[in-house]
Amino acid sequence: METKYVYLFNEGDANMRNLLGGKGANLAEMSKLGMPVPNGFTITTEACNKYYDDGEVISDEIQAQIMEYLEKLEEETGKKFGDQENPLLVSVRSGARASMPGMMDTILNLGINDVVANTIAEKSGNERFAYDSYRRFIQMFADVVKGLSKKRFEEIIDEVKAERGIKDDLELTADDMKTLVEKFKEFYRSELGEDFPTDPKTQMMEAIEAVFRSWNNERAIYYRRMNDIPSNWGTAVNVQMMVFGNMGEDCGTGVAFTRNPATGENKLYGEFLMNAQGEDVVAGVRTPKKIDQLKEVSPTAYDQFVEICSKLENHYKNMQDMEFTIENGKLFMLQTRNGKRTAQAALKIACDMVDEGLISTDEALMMVEPQQLDSLLHPTFAKEALEAAEVITSALPASPGAGCGQIVFTAEEAKEEADKGKKVILVRLETSPEDIEGMAVSQGILTVRGGMTSHAAVVARGMGACCVSGAGDIEMNEEEGSFKVNGKTFKRGDWISIDGSTGNVYGEAIETVPAEISGDFERFMEWADKRRRLKVRTNADTPKDAKQAVDFGAEGIGLVRTEHMFFEGDKIKAIREMIVAKNDDQMQAALDKLEPMQQKDFEGIYEAMEERPVTIRYLDPPLHEFVPTNPEDIKELANEMNISEAELNQVISNLHEVNPMMGHRGSRLDVSNPGIAKMQTAAVIKAALNVNKKHPEWNIEPEIMLPLIGDLAELKYVKKLVTETADAILKEAGSDMKYHVGTMIEVPRAALLADEIAEEAEFFSFGTNDLTQLTFGFSRDDAGKFLPQYYAAKIYENDPFARLDQNGVGKLIEMAANLGRKTRPDMKLGVCGEHGGDPASIEFVDKVGLNYVSCSPFRVPIARLAAAQATIKNEKA
Ligand code: PEP
Ligand code: MG
Repeated sequence: METKYVYLFNEGDANMRNLLGGKGANLAEMSKLGMPVPNGFTITTEACNKYYDDGEVISDEIQAQIMEYLEKLEEETGKKFGDQENPLLVSVRSGARASMPGMMDTILNLGINDVVANTIAEKSGNERFAYDSYRRFIQMFADVVKGLSKKRFEEIIDEVKAERGIKDDLELTADDMKTLVEKFKEFYRSELGEDFPTDPKTQMMEAIEAVFRSWNNERAIYYRRMNDIPSNWGTAVNVQMMVFGNMGEDCGTGVAFTRNPATGENKLYGEFLMNAQGEDVVAGVRTPKKIDQLKEVSPTAYDQFVEICSKLENHYKNMQDMEFTIENGKLFMLQTRNGKRTAQAALKIACDMVDEGLISTDEALMMVEPQQLDSLLHPTFAKEALEAAEVITSALPASPGAGCGQIVFTAEEAKEEADKGKKVILVRLETSPEDIEGMAVSQGILTVRGGMTSHAAVVARGMGACCVSGAGDIEMNEEEGSFKVNGKTFKRGDWISIDGSTGNVYGEAIETVPAEISGDFERFMEWADKRRRLKVRTNADTPKDAKQAVDFGAEGIGLVRTEHMFFEGDKIKAIREMIVAKNDDQMQAALDKLEPMQQKDFEGIYEAMEERPVTIRYLDPPLHEFVPTNPEDIKELANEMNISEAELNQVISNLHEVNPMMGHRGSRLDVSNPGIAKMQTAAVIKAALNVNKKHPEWNIEPEIMLPLIGDLAELKYVKKLVTETADAILKEAGSDMKYHVGTMIEVPRAALLADEIAEEAEFFSFGTNDLTQLTFGFSRDDAGKFLPQYYAAKIYENDPFARLDQNGVGKLIEMAANLGRKTRPDMKLGVCGEHGGDPASIEFVDKVGLNYVSCSPFRVPIARLAAAQATIKNEKA
């Protein structure tokens, strides 16, 4: 049987969303509910996919079906394409499975040509309306189908207005509209070397193809990547009989939400314009009126609309965003969909609808986007101020939030200026662990290089600081203390603002407002906690971050990156002494200095986490990260260390590695310097003993995690260093405190041999950052440079460092989890890479049965909700 590619609205319903797209399915559903919907048909998403499969042509089969349905539409409406008596005009609109507002294209008034315009003028007795519709159609067709610039059309309108000495579009007469039509056609011909198509069927087929094409325009591709929408979903196309809001004073058009999308207030919210077409409301040429005022202007239509709103909301059990048109006093519904809303509104609506008995708490949980919660946790820009500001460049939205401050170029400067009470934005080529304090005191971090898991991005998210990374348009001139972007120069001390949620950078100060957490938020999160199967831990390296994470609901720490503690105060000195040590004695002396400092750090974290589990990961980065790079600093360090500059330079050059991320790091450091593992173990165990002693009601059991393990023998070797040290300390203290030694699974070999590794490892934590890096063979710091080309070539759709690659890396995780549990059935399994805070990745982690995810403090609420949604979805599946 031949595939059915076209459906009349009365052949479908809301359940056919995948095939008919959101708009088509909802138009069908509204028709089914007996609501006034202009007739039409939907060309399916499968037709769009076939269009691409066939090399971007609409096959004869599909064209034939479209023509067949056009005839059906003509029968239903009693109108005909190109007819001199009763011409049919249609709109052609995109409609994907997931709503993608404004991402794809729409064409209105299709079917007009000279003859039809004349007929409409006569029939409606409104010549101005006929030619206004005609000129709008030419504009839209030229823009959407032929890619001509909109600007020239606007200029032509301005020229005609200027000739006539008028200001307002409404003052344009029927004759002016006719002039515009002619001028537009002339421009079309001169630009394209062909006449504007007069045959409505040609117009329609070209428009349908343009909508298919718009599925792959740049902004649609970007939107899909941001919102996790696969490119193989395709878009449907809706062809619908036009009804006119611009045919006179008893006509109008508007958009409305069943509840306030900004606050969630349960009150109809929207605007309308009389004698106007849809785009006028959106374009802001005329100021629309509040929806309440429709009651006075068109009372019957208003009452009917209010009734439909309430029906739709009850039917869809969600806040609706609707478009309507009134033609000669009669109401028509053109669209309904679940309305986009702010996080605050989302929570209020979810809670209110539960209280109203409209939805269950499970349905409420599914109604809020986890990612959205983020905006409730960070300060935000004042909306109006943001709209008025100019974007100077745009890059990766690495860590959300609103940052506004004066430019500084180094971490030291950041600290100095912040000490003086100034607000600063740290602008760096890229950041390194040394910058951490400077980052912590900055309002935001802007980097020229680096992707979503670059140091700056990871650390900023950890601190809840806003960060925009990879702003490649910026030309840095650190020496002069300035940078140039898009022709403008910004100097040290100039004000800029960065929006970590959009990646936009602004060349001025923009006012911010602190975030507010309402009561609905707490109530909602309690529902999520009751429902989720996965535990949520946090990645935190300081008591402050740990405390913040607990406030956000973290149930433990899944990853303490101990190296992050090495950069504060005296610790960096001691670790540098360790690195330059020339013999065992010097090495031990340095480690002896470090141990009590580490112990104090761990005590702080245990105190902050009270009795919650804490996984401490041993030293991981290559040691070169701890030594300075610029000659001034090297000189200073040599003095401090009491060695010659030449000697220090030698040490530094010995540390040089061609590929440090695959070099001397992780547990490899302990194999070559066993003292490090011993020192860290002593610090962990003594800290836990001390804190347990202070709080006899607590029962802390340290979890020690060894990084970058690739083989059982390697794990055994390092584990022995740990257990010998720990057992000796416990024995001496006469303590029976339990502790656990586990490993990260971040080298593919460890995943492949997980059953063996599990003989020694008591738990696994998947380090999905490194596991992704090593599975793809992509450097996590450099992939941002070439991934955009992969998106453009449709090889990959997402950054695998941000969203877990379920097919490849995910397969390794699932396999390793199963292998591990074969050896050790009750083994605790978690994820502590960046993916631990990403909703799509969390859903996968839930599906494969891990125990917890661990993410930066500011993503904890997101992970809690995503985990609840994962449980609900995976139960259904
Ligand atoms: C990882 O590799 O996923 C991980 C958590 O460790 P790090 O990011 O510190 O390498
Ligand atoms: Mg790692």
